Amino acid sequence: MKIAVIGTGYVGLVSGVCFAEIGNDVTCIDIDQSKIDRLTKGHVPIYEPGLEELLHENQARNRLHFTTDAREGVSAAQMVFLALPTPPGADGSADLSAVLAVADQLGDILGDSYTVVVNKSTVPVGTADQVRERILAKHPEGVAVVSNPEFLREGVAVRDFMEPDRVVIGTSSPEAEAVMRELYAPLTDEQHPLLVMDEHSAELTKYAANSLLATKISFINEIANVADRVGADVEAVARAVGADPRIGSRFLQAGIGYGGSCFPKDVQALAKTAESHGYDFQIIKAVLAANQAQRYFFIEKITKHFNGEVAGRHFALWGLAFKPDTDDIREAPSLAIIDALLDAGATVTAYDPEARDNIAAVYAARQRKPQLVADAFAALQDADALIIATEWKEFRGAQLDAIAGTLRTPVIFDGRNIYDPQAARAAGITYASMGRP
Ligand code: NAD
Repeated sequence: MKIAVIGTGYVGLVSGVCFAEIGNDVTCIDIDQSKIDRLTKGHVPIYEPGLEELLHENQARNRLHFTTDAREGVSAAQMVFLALPTPPGADGSADLSAVLAVADQLGDILGDSYTVVVNKSTVPVGTADQVRERILAKHPEGVAVVSNPEFLREGVAVRDFMEPDRVVIGTSSPEAEAVMRELYAPLTDEQHPLLVMDEHSAELTKYAANSLLATKISFINEIANVADRVGADVEAVARAVGADPRIGSRFLQAGIGYGGSCFPKDVQALAKTAESHGYDFQIIKAVLAANQAQRYFFIEKITKHFNGEVAGRHFALWGLAFKPDTDDIREAPSLAIIDALLDAGATVTAYDPEARDNIAAVYAARQRKPQLVADAFAALQDADALIIATEWKEFRGAQLDAIAGTLRTPVIFDGRNIYDPQAARAAGITYASMGRP
């Protein structure tokens, strides 16, 4: 099929490349000229394992094109995917300005043949209706608007896309359903089901999924906080609790809370949707508060160790990305930790395998900023303690003796529970983690 993807970020680029990989002719469109220029030359502007290879292969097969000209990309397309940003607005609800602006634009530029417009962005219930109304106002025939929320995870996005847990299609149009089934046929089977439902249910599914995952994280984080106080080991508890298949063991790793471009905004947006329909979604509001609190409990742990006096101290920070295997720093807990330490008069030297440039851009215009280094051990020099904010594999494999020997004082605050507390103690390290004695 001829497919256009509007918005070439994490979701749009992965979707576009993977749709090309399964045999479609794909044009990815973005308003960011420099991004399109880099992609045209075969450079992937984000860190996503496996993506660049697939991009090259499909460019070589002439099945993958990039442009800033929406009309050129859309006019011959049978399907137009929207993978546009939906950041939180000032009141916490999803900001739909990019999605609705493109809907207006599509009314002017869609071709004459039947086109299925597919929304992949995470959007509040009713957005497919709004997009449809806006397109139909200018282009009254031959268009269906479908909801197709995306569940890929950054870091394993290609695999998630090619082997989806499920594909959710929200449509009440049999014609559009048939087109969607045809497109996804190579990726779906009994183990990777395609689930068809109405548009509103599909839109709500994405928020429900992300909010339930966020709830699981916040729940185990709060168990960790209780474990800290009563002298229990959250990992032993999580293992035993997760053995129950009704609960499951994944997403039960205690830490300093979730970040990223999805959970924080989606949980907030679901609370807002409920509120605007007269419903007080209490669990979700508690998840939001617990997640914010978690990073401050961790910062408190650090300052308490120094009897409240961190001014003049120097900290090493490992891990800036909101999770491993991505360069994405949106809502990363590391930002709150850096800011709190700098505000308290400490200095910070930070290392991340992929996210350094993004952090440098955030702090570029600020006076107080962390020093960024290109080597994990270089960050440890002269530091009073090491703080771990992201569980990159590289950190898990580091030698504890070497860490202890490089730090000025052998102290680790591990916000991701990556080391064995006994091994850390055996290496002479004062080791504080989350919910473990
Ligand atoms: P992103 O910010 O990485 O990418 C969005 C892209 O859209 C950018 O390249 C931007 O330049 C482009 N853009 C903005 N306005 C445009 C316009 N008018 N025309 C063309 N291009 C335009 O965002 P993302 O992380 O890919 O997320 C996109 C959507 O998918 C969001 O709703 C998000 O919640 C959802 N989602 C994200 C993930 C994820 O892991 N990142 C997973 C599932 C769903």
